[in-house]
Amino acid sequence: MSVPLSSWERDLFTWVLPEERSPYIPYRECVLGWVVASRGMRGDGHIVLTPRGNAADLDMPLPQVFAYGVVETVDGIIAVSIRELVTEQLDCDLSLLSGESLPGRGKEIRRWSYSRWNPGHPCPICSGQVREVRLVTPRGVAGVLAVCSRDERLWVFDSVRGIALPVPLTSFYAELMRVQGIRDPLIALAPHRFFSALESYNDDAMIGAFAQYNKLRPKIAAGDLLPARTGPSRRPSLVRLIRSLVGKSPSSQNTP
Ligand SMILES: [Zn+2]
Repeated sequence: MSVPLSSWERDLFTWVLPEERSPYIPYRECVLGWVVASRGMRGDGHIVLTPRGNAADLDMPLPQVFAYGVVETVDGIIAVSIRELVTEQLDCDLSLLSGESLPGRGKEIRRWSYSRWNPGHPCPICSGQVREVRLVTPRGVAGVLAVCSRDERLWVFDSVRGIALPVPLTSFYAELMRVQGIRDPLIALAPHRFFSALESYNDDAMIGAFAQYNKLRPKIAAGDLLPARTGPSRRPSLVRLIRSLVGKSPSSQNTP
């Protein structure tokens, strides 16, 4: 079967792979140059692209999601995902978030993706404020973990490659529970509590959980993440710096 993607599919897949960010370029070339080797074998909207339609490997574990976006149409909300490129095979997917079968190209309401997000930007979904946790190694900033509790989404920005990748809630939460030593099943087995309880997890808990998760399913190159309090981003406060230069303790400054 050597059939190219439909123009709608090509539009959606290249949209989550913006060409202004270089790590997406090889993926765009596959979407534009390869042909469909398999359709619907792992869900309704699962498509495997290979060069010349060479046979797809449908038994391998699915690679991690590399690019993700959502298109809201009058017929439903469609998730667009591209998985990590493996040897001459690119797994792509279009699926309705409701789990029903995929409709055709309905009138579009809006779309969003992580692919154009940068640290400091508002949430790509609701435009609200995002909680950001810096991921720092001895060599510098490796990434930023971002959470929007309103949309119940988390993602990580890879500061080296300059791209944002979704982080699966269930796996991340399991590591967070381990790091926090929480075994109460009412909490530990309820990943969506993460968003309502977000403020109760400090940056170190989030960093520890991400470090564990990232060891099992690497998203970014971050072997040794530093705790938040020791990261190189933490500079001594101006007051402490002046006190150390003057050589006075806070109490002696207040003594008349
Ligand atoms: Zn949001």
